[in-house]
Amino acid sequence: MSGGIDSLIAWYYLGKPTAYYVPLLTHYTEKELLTFERLSRIDKEIKDSLIIEADFPLGKFEIGDKANIPGRNLFLALLGAQYAKNVYIIGINGDDVPDKNIRAFMKMSEVISEITGEKISIRSPFWAYSKSEIIKWFLETDKVKLSLPDRIKLLKTSVSCYSEDEGQCGECPSCFRKWIALEYNHINTRDIFLKNPATTKTAQEYWKRVLDKKFNSKKRYEETRTVLQRYFGKCNEERPSRLGKIGCSIRIRVREE
Ligand SMILES: [Zn+2]
Repeated sequence: MSGGIDSLIAWYYLGKPTAYYVPLLTHYTEKELLTFERLSRIDKEIKDSLIIEADFPLGKFEIGDKANIPGRNLFLALLGAQYAKNVYIIGINGDDVPDKNIRAFMKMSEVISEITGEKISIRSPFWAYSKSEIIKWFLETDKVKLSLPDRIKLLKTSVSCYSEDEGQCGECPSCFRKWIALEYNHINTRDIFLKNPATTKTAQEYWKRVLDKKFNSKKRYEETRTVLQRYFGKCNEERPSRLGKIGCSIRIRVREE
């Protein structure tokens, strides 16, 4: 479990199994640990099921603003295989980094099985589902015995922000994807992010990607388009978008092409 939405929902979806958190000593490790404290105040069972592993300092290999650690999930898979034969690392529809996609997980299962002599399976239950869809499931399912306000509070409290500062920045790609998924489910996001994600450079970049249809997941494209259209799509001279001139100029330039 990481403290982010995907692994939090997966934990409920899988029937609250023992979960491991591995402190990778990235610049947001402290924030993740704090997040578990806060999540556990809403559902005490989170703390009861969570085992915090010894430090595993992969953070020193972190690259760029997307906080990428090459091969991170392979390390985690091998570590997980020390505890269980079925290891869940949560990937969702549209996740396609080299160490987190269906093919990579199949290969990891093969290699780890071969070198440990056990039948190890590295899997995710959510390859077919987008972040918005798993949130919808979480809000509607009978499987979770929490009130709707508590479920929403959990979603809002979960953190997968790349910034080392306290809170959820609203500017990093991870905050942006969370914002899209919550907005798509009509959850009020105003009290979550330090900066309104709609007004960030990240939102502009994603809007450009929407216009160019540069998405590797149809669902992610549709959901991003639907939400961003509320902010960028209605832009004209009489009724400027909430992004002001920057949002408008992108829109107008694209119209001219
Ligand atoms: Zn962020």
